[in-house]
Amino acid sequence: MCPLHAPAGARTSPDDALAFYRRPLFDLAGEAFEARSERTDASVVTYLIDRNVNYSNVCNVGCAFCGFYRTRRQDDAYTLSFGEISAKLRELEAVGGTRVLMQGGVNPYLPFEWYLDLLAHLKRAHPTIRVEAFSPEEIKGMTKLTGMSPLEVLRELQVAGLDGLPGGGGEMLVDEVRHAAHVSPARISTDEWLSIMADAQRLGLYTTATMVIGFGESNAQRVQSLMRLRDAQDRALAEHGNGYSAFIAWTLQTKGVRIEGKAPGAGAFEYVQHVAVSRLVLDNIVNVQASWPTMGYKVAQTTLFAGANDFGSTMLEENVVSQAGARLRATPEREMVRQIVDAGFEPRQRDSLYNVIRTPDVEAMLAPPTPVPVAAPA
Ligand code: SF4
Repeated sequence: MCPLHAPAGARTSPDDALAFYRRPLFDLAGEAFEARSERTDASVVTYLIDRNVNYSNVCNVGCAFCGFYRTRRQDDAYTLSFGEISAKLRELEAVGGTRVLMQGGVNPYLPFEWYLDLLAHLKRAHPTIRVEAFSPEEIKGMTKLTGMSPLEVLRELQVAGLDGLPGGGGEMLVDEVRHAAHVSPARISTDEWLSIMADAQRLGLYTTATMVIGFGESNAQRVQSLMRLRDAQDRALAEHGNGYSAFIAWTLQTKGVRIEGKAPGAGAFEYVQHVAVSRLVLDNIVNVQASWPTMGYKVAQTTLFAGANDFGSTMLEENVVSQAGARLRATPEREMVRQIVDAGFEPRQRDSLYNVIRTPDVEAMLAPPTPVPVAAPA
């Protein structure tokens, strides 16, 4: 059996899941921690050294929660050159990174060949870096550019060097929520998002699933979204064994973007509760990440006791949620390790496939700096 996926056992029904939201948080978290301990080493928390590259901020989808996108005519619209992207990957290589997460807007002015040439260039120039790029929304954009099906687009990208897809755009897999007037009427639909991910999985590409809470959705809609994901994972595992390797939830960031004042967002309590519910519902996805960029370190640490087994990644240069008010940007490895150790777990560096690749030297890494000697008074 693939080490990324646990066997499906007794299952949480939608009614059970809804009832979880009414449970005292500590009880719920304890149960989620138990479920996590059955599927992963309970003493270990993993992390990834990676970086984000946002290759272009030109986008024609116009999500109301997005502070990142620009129209082509805006002064600060950009598309990075291959040289600029390579320079960013050299920085990643210098700190022992293993994966680049590359996303942009849906830019109708970039020809499909640009993406193929970029992937070929990155594979040639940075053979040790896994390239996980282009969320389903961007893949859909490429189908419009080329007239090809998502499967054909993905196959060409894979041949050019694509290793996997980011889970971006999962948000809430309920069309009434994602297409609401205050959220994103033009957003890729739930069916399309799931179908593009299923195509990617069929080709053997790596995928993760993301979810955002705080649009004003009900708990029933959150459960509905989790159930859609669990069903999709069941199908992928039954069909070929390559499903979602991780689930990552975070809270809607609203600062300075059009959705501000129109959606309630979600606080720390709700976030920890939702991570626990997700762990209990998604019995077929092994890895659950804590989101330090949106929730801060302390809340992220708390989720390690509520079902999360991974502290995410260093995210050098994250630009999308950080431009809608996320609290933290880029964490050096040392800080990731400190947060994991302070919470009482053993840190392990992993690759993007969740293989442990290194045990950091915690003592050396967290040793206090040598004090500068103070000159004796004359
Ligand atoms: S979230 Fe993505 S698809 Fe939506 S506007 Fe921003 S860049 Fe475009």
